[in-house]
Amino acid sequence: MFNQIAVIGAGTMGNGIAHVFAQYGFNVNLVDRDPAQLEKAILTITKNLERQVAKELLTKEASIQTLARINKVQQLAEGVRTADLIVEAATENTDLKLSIFKELDQLAPETAILATNTSSISITKIASATKRPEKVIGMHFMNPVPVMKLVEIINGYSTDAAVTRKLWR
Ligand code: NAD
Repeated sequence: MFNQIAVIGAGTMGNGIAHVFAQYGFNVNLVDRDPAQLEKAILTITKNLERQVAKELLTKEASIQTLARINKVQQLAEGVRTADLIVEAATENTDLKLSIFKELDQLAPETAILATNTSSISITKIASATKRPEKVIGMHFMNPVPVMKLVEIINGYSTDAAVTRKLWR
């Protein structure tokens, strides 16, 4: 089981991924280098939670607790220091993702699983930026994340079967 999740990138997908993890009881550090994106993400999550409450999909109390579990963070080091699962949802750019994963490998606990929400970049290639390719995996959420119940799990060449099983649970 995971205790602390970090979501990297607070754009369209990142805010939804943070929302869903927090709704199901996980503490989430939502990380973005752009503070305006973090503010916008919290506004979007708040509005989406209000919609869930209005549709009686969630109680008001649960929506308040969901929001309280999301922590905005600008610095990658601070955001991932204690994370056991990191879901990267930054801009779809190969060089950017390779540099983020290189940093994640250095900054996150050795045991942390590093997942990416990429739609088109090879998981094996992203994993090659780290010294833990067995802990790198694809977690492909669909837009809008709080509504879509499907997540594709994509193994890279070196992804450990135990890592895949852990995400299935
Ligand atoms: P987006 O442009 O809405 O958001 C990307 C965010 O990443 C921005 O807020 C940006 O500030 C942030 N970012 C960029 N570099 C960063 C860094 N170094 N550190 C921290 N934050 C950084 O993008 P999106 O549509 O949310 O897509 C994110 C990922 O999800 C992409 O890999 C994309 O392919 C994938 N995806 C998108 C969709 C979709 O429908 N939008 C669906 C499935 C998967």
